[in-house]
Amino acid sequence: MKVTKVEIIHNKQPIPLPEPWLSAWNAPGGKPVTSLGFSFYKVYTDEGIVGIGPHTGASASFLEGFDPFNVGTFWNTHMGGKRSGNSGKGAAGLEIALWDIIGKAAGQPVYKLLGACRDKILVYAATSRLLEKEQHVRQVMDIMNEGFKAVKLRLHRPNPWDDLAVVEAVRDVVGDEMTILVDANQNNPSIGYNFWPRRTALKMARELDNLNVYYLEEPLPRKDVEGLAEIAATVDMFIAGGEHSPTIYDFKEHLLRGAYDIVQPDVILGGNMGITGVRKVAEIADYFERSIIPHVCSGGNFSIGLAATLQAMATVSNCPLVEYPYDPPILTTDTMQTIVKEPILIDKDGFVKVPDKPGIGIEIDEEKLSEKVVVT
Ligand SMILES: [Mg+2]
Repeated sequence: MKVTKVEIIHNKQPIPLPEPWLSAWNAPGGKPVTSLGFSFYKVYTDEGIVGIGPHTGASASFLEGFDPFNVGTFWNTHMGGKRSGNSGKGAAGLEIALWDIIGKAAGQPVYKLLGACRDKILVYAATSRLLEKEQHVRQVMDIMNEGFKAVKLRLHRPNPWDDLAVVEAVRDVVGDEMTILVDANQNNPSIGYNFWPRRTALKMARELDNLNVYYLEEPLPRKDVEGLAEIAATVDMFIAGGEHSPTIYDFKEHLLRGAYDIVQPDVILGGNMGITGVRKVAEIADYFERSIIPHVCSGGNFSIGLAATLQAMATVSNCPLVEYPYDPPILTTDTMQTIVKEPILIDKDGFVKVPDKPGIGIEIDEEKLSEKVVVT
């Protein structure tokens, strides 16, 4: 089989949001977002099979005449990260499209070709904003009533004690019914960002531990391996991070030195993971008796990234949860999953089914898109 053509499909008009969105990782100085865009690859082959992957920047020329079954070679050449020159090209979206083609050629979802361990995965609702305490309490109650068993709250208000007051108020109303995760987003250099010194991060970790928080994500920048390891050694809860890690090797020191209990690669965000990379990170983590809870990006491409993530995570046994950005009324199925025929939804127990159609298992709704796209 050979790739004959690659299209990049963008939105002509972005998907409007019901209200301006200022995410925690853009607060306090960032500009609120008022719409979501989407952009994905369509990779055509000489056998009539078409693969889909989120657009991650790499040029379509990477795949001219390429045999999709050689996805291993593709990953090593453009994403492997072992030597400078074979990473940093933004090729993850093309790798996902190659797996989509392989699955479609075999008539099977990718996770079954790679060796299925399970067909559904528990997800957590990842909220995204710094709201007032009462708003958080109301929102978490709604999220719990919709079936989610785990929720993530954001930290790093100007006064860290205000963060703790939110977590405490949410814990009071959910009791043991819900798992609470928190994300300090200390690896994101946004405008006006309130970085925590090591001592603050350690103190916060101790306080959050007392509130029976499941994990603390990014209490310090990713590269402060020593500081992260100190926190991880001090508290009982898990320390998580790594969503921006560019290559699989960027998890090595964190695992060797005990900085992360839970690794969080993203199939596209760091640029060089793809389905192959996140599976490798899961296996490396497993070797060190650690878990993986992958990061999943929000936005108009969400379903494509989530589908690819689920295909990979259905093949490993050390992934207790997957991220599911959800922050009504802004981040919802309506805004993030408009471009697919069948959105990926939770069941009554908080699980999502691993998409089981051939390939990564999702179909773009071409009819809905017809008026909305630009092809390059
Ligand atoms: Mg995060």
